[in-house]
Amino acid sequence: MDDDWRAHVVPCVGSGLCCLKARCWVGAQIHGLGDKCPSLVWKDERYWCGEILRAKEQEAEQLKKQLYVGDGCCMSLFNEMREERFRSMSKNQLNEYKVALVSLRRSSDK
Ligand code: SF4
Repeated sequence: MDDDWRAHVVPCVGSGLCCLKARCWVGAQIHGLGDKCPSLVWKDERYWCGEILRAKEQEAEQLKKQLYVGDGCCMSLFNEMREERFRSMSKNQLNEYKVALVSLRRSSDK
């Protein structure tokens, strides 16, 4: 088995599944433990973390690093919400997805 986890992840499409299933430490600190994080926002046809959207640039970058934003999705299998997002993605979004996938694969080759 390949022990490089990056070879098994795919780009996030903003399905919202992670944040609906369980709050991360940021969401838990703000809202308490639980599921369906109230900070999750729907914008531009996908879900985003509202705390990152509202943060100032430096803090947003720090949060992205701490929450592994951009490092890919490891919950893609049987994720019906993800499939739904794929079905409604624009041509531009699909192209961005392909670019992100190539970038992820390159980083897993290192
Ligand atoms: S704080 Fe942001 S990343 Fe964390 S669970 Fe809530 S919406 Fe998701």
